[in-house]
Amino acid sequence: MQAVALHPEVIVARSVKWQTSCTVLHHGDETFVVDSVIYPSELELLPGLLAQAGWELSGLLVTHGDWDHVLARLAFPEAALGVAETTAARLRAEPGRAARQLRQADEDDYVQRPRPLSLGQVQALPVPGKLGLGDSELELLPADGHTQDGMAVWSPAHRILCCGDYLSPVEIPWLQEHGNRDAYVATLRRLQPYVEQADWIVPGHGEHLDAQRALAILREDLAYLEALPSEDAPLPLARRDRRQKEIHADNVQHVPGAGGPPAP
Ligand SMILES: [Zn+2]
Repeated sequence: MQAVALHPEVIVARSVKWQTSCTVLHHGDETFVVDSVIYPSELELLPGLLAQAGWELSGLLVTHGDWDHVLARLAFPEAALGVAETTAARLRAEPGRAARQLRQADEDDYVQRPRPLSLGQVQALPVPGKLGLGDSELELLPADGHTQDGMAVWSPAHRILCCGDYLSPVEIPWLQEHGNRDAYVATLRRLQPYVEQADWIVPGHGEHLDAQRALAILREDLAYLEALPSEDAPLPLARRDRRQKEIHADNVQHVPGAGGPPAP
């Protein structure tokens, strides 16, 4: 796991698995942890990271309900988990799914954990909306399209945007089971004014980005999404390895063609 301070009050940890990001935002006497790292040895380090900084946890936030983002409860089993209303609805509709998918991934990776995942009391937050952080506020922005649920977190005190699974330097836009191309495009356009004024953008996967680099990714991702469902939709130069081509093939199946879904 890598951990870097992007600001005296912000630490970002990145998992070895899928470069999944976990962001600690502190201001005044409050601290939120957004999303999670994945492996037990990485999660174990999180409480110490906060203790070392002298920060006391106020709560956990997740950008969306995919299992790889909701694991911080394993590090802070007593903490409340704040999610967008759309994510709360999704978690209610698919109880136990994140825990099941974690178990499968752990089997694949031969990883053992001291205890199974329990999301505990999930707190649904109104999105768009605001959440107090010391004498500042976090802005919660709708971010759907990758999945049917989610939010991005903008911290004006730090000028940092935690955008969830958008604007990744390592993963092309991925339309999952209940994802939607038009919603994804709308989310990118909604995020753009925040990206433009951000010091740092922390994507769900991959290293943090300055505004210029995030805007370049945003343009590439819009061009890619708008060309779907063409198989020839332009994969960004830095994101066209075998795995990204598999995701692209998934996306092509997912977006209906102008004349309806392709014949079987
Ligand atoms: Zn993810």
